[in-house]
Amino acid sequence: MNLRRSAREALRTQRERLKRLNQTAPPEPFSKWYKEDRKRHPDIPAASFDSQLCIICLEIITGKDSVRALSCRHIYHTACFDKWFKGYHDFCPVCHGRVVPEAESVTV
Ligand SMILES: [Zn+2]
Ligand SMILES: [Zn+2]
Repeated sequence: MNLRRSAREALRTQRERLKRLNQTAPPEPFSKWYKEDRKRHPDIPAASFDSQLCIICLEIITGKDSVRALSCRHIYHTACFDKWFKGYHDFCPVCHGRVVPEAESVTV
């Protein structure tokens, strides 16, 4: 087995994964997400938006924090989520929903 080659492969895979992540859940300020998500879900009581906990670092997400909002509506600090994602976790830490579409569908 060629170790150096597989390290390169891993790096490329990692870059592809991050690219897909940025397409699926681009980083945005929490305040922006909050405003848009309220528009998208006018039926959800405002109170449920007020405090969002980042389950990775267990800190409350506030105004200018950069977040990634997954399609399952779970949000995390961008830095926290990226650490999680780089550990080859392709799923949401809370609901285990897939973060990005299947890797197999990507043509390199
Ligand atoms: Zn966090
Ligand atoms: Zn989720």
